[in-house]
Amino acid sequence: MKAPAALDELIAALRCLPGVGPKSAQRMAYHMLQRDKPAAQRLAQALALALERIRHCEKCNSYAEEEVCVLCRSSRRDATLLCVVETPADLLMMEQAQCYQGLYFVLMGALSPLDGVGPREIHLDRLVKRAADGVVSEAILATNFTVEGEATAHYVSELLRAKGLKVSRIARGLPVGGELEHVDSGTLAQAVMERREI
Ligand SMILES: [Zn+2]
Repeated sequence: MKAPAALDELIAALRCLPGVGPKSAQRMAYHMLQRDKPAAQRLAQALALALERIRHCEKCNSYAEEEVCVLCRSSRRDATLLCVVETPADLLMMEQAQCYQGLYFVLMGALSPLDGVGPREIHLDRLVKRAADGVVSEAILATNFTVEGEATAHYVSELLRAKGLKVSRIARGLPVGGELEHVDSGTLAQAVMERREI
């Protein structure tokens, strides 16, 4: 017997989530329809709302509901420091570690030529423009310690140094292959404190 078309479509749609295969997509769909319709309704509304309202901050490129996000507008941040991270989750990690008072730029990825991710996909033209605003004096590269993250840090450092900026890399307190997202706050704070110029 074939499942109703709308159910098929739901299962197919759920498979866009990372790590969700056909079996778990099916389980999720059944769970929502059978056991938790209000939660499913909420999920549908939240998804529609987020898609409608969330955009990228014009300055830091992270997610925001406004043109320029709250963090970028804050007068309490040190505008001479610009920390470059791969994802909004990494930005959040940095904030939770409470070790940094400057501003950010979120690449939304890392260089990975084999996956078709080049300088344009990670918005490097915007980063260079942002960093060359005349206020930023140091860029702190806090990309992951993965092959892609290291390659990105190297590439970005060349671009920004050519603009006369001081460029530093967070210290290797993080494990090789390490992703910021999975590091504890203490280790991350240490890595920022012990950053070295490159
Ligand atoms: Zn922002």
